[in-house]
Amino acid sequence: MKLTRLPLHWLILAGLAFGIVFGLIAVLAGWNEFTNQWISPFGTIFIRLLKLIAIPLIIVSLINGVSGLNDISRLTRIGLRTIVLYLFTTVMAVSFGLVAVNLLQPGHYLSDEKSAEFRAKFAAEMIEKPETQNGPLQFLVDIVPENIIQSMSANTNMLQVIFFSLLFGVAMVMLPNSRVTPVKQLIEALNDIVMKIVDIIMMAAPFGVFALIASITTQLAGDNIRDTLQIFGTLGMYALTVIIGLVFIILVFYPLLLKIFTQKGPFGFFKGIAPAQLLAFSTSSSAATLPVTMECCEQNLGIRKEISSFVLPLGATVNMDGTSLYQAVAAVFLAQIYGMDLTISQQLTIILTATLASIGSAAVPGAGIIMLVIVLNSVGVPTEGIALIFAVDRPLDMLRTVVNITGDCTVASIVSCQTKEIKP
Ligand code: ASP
Repeated sequence: MKLTRLPLHWLILAGLAFGIVFGLIAVLAGWNEFTNQWISPFGTIFIRLLKLIAIPLIIVSLINGVSGLNDISRLTRIGLRTIVLYLFTTVMAVSFGLVAVNLLQPGHYLSDEKSAEFRAKFAAEMIEKPETQNGPLQFLVDIVPENIIQSMSANTNMLQVIFFSLLFGVAMVMLPNSRVTPVKQLIEALNDIVMKIVDIIMMAAPFGVFALIASITTQLAGDNIRDTLQIFGTLGMYALTVIIGLVFIILVFYPLLLKIFTQKGPFGFFKGIAPAQLLAFSTSSSAATLPVTMECCEQNLGIRKEISSFVLPLGATVNMDGTSLYQAVAAVFLAQIYGMDLTISQQLTIILTATLASIGSAAVPGAGIIMLVIVLNSVGVPTEGIALIFAVDRPLDMLRTVVNITGDCTVASIVSCQTKEIKP
């Protein structure tokens, strides 16, 4: 079912533009109260929908992803290499994100008064960080749930839900196929259903974005238009920080990896995967792009089907370098906005949680921002901050999806070259 023939990303960009225009008019015309009462609730509903689907999404997409690793028994050599490379590129991406956001400090472009106002507005939502009296390994202890039903009942325990889902998936892989086939089929069906729900929620995204941006504009700006421009300037700096990190990964990090591991220059590689990159940009979905990614790798880069058909579908689900970089930048940016100084151990927690959250993110539009909740919760940044960055999320989603699939192609090339299975 389509609302119009226009692609969703244009509708969302239109929602964004209308939201800005409406917000500015509302500030000038003094419609703050009206916006607050009649527009803002739709933004809240949209955020609630995103949160609502987060736990089911983690559970089914992780169990589905891990139980798909069945192939590891057949392709241990390829499987292990792939997983190590995927983890390495993801952890590096989060680290680049942390360096960029700590150097550029986009959240500090908001004046102190505005930051204080923002903090006060969401004071009730501030999550008290447990004191570190429990020692530096407390975050590891916290990952292991005592009671999974309890963990699933609060959005603050998503890491525990991830832990359980991984364990569940691994146990499925360890059991004989015949024993787990019914569960596999059930999980696959549930996966399809949850993806459909995400689709449905994303249909509301243009309106949600309109309502969010319009109400954020009026709420934060009060009646001062200069304040409004300052907020957009700050959001612009945040978006720029994410973009700088993503561009660095594509233009420096991946070419370097390709040079080191395959002794090949980047030009043939980029020319070969350009169609997949363009599709990733316009669909914002690694999953939707997958068939073209596989075709580009096989036909243009000469990667054998045995490799591409294992490495790429797995990568589309678990390897999201762009998403993990974005989550790290977003978490620190919001912490800066809320005036929270993140300690080194909190930043290390971000490396861990953004890596896990990007693995758990589904390969569909907007999944990264849903999983951002995990990263925010892990360091005690109020999740309501998501409303602020949602406005610029779609263009960033388009860009990070390009990075996500480029990372998959990079790893596929390396694994293929190292196992000497590139066609002559
Ligand atoms: N849209 C991204 C992807 O499909 C995931 C995300 O939202 O970051 O790769």
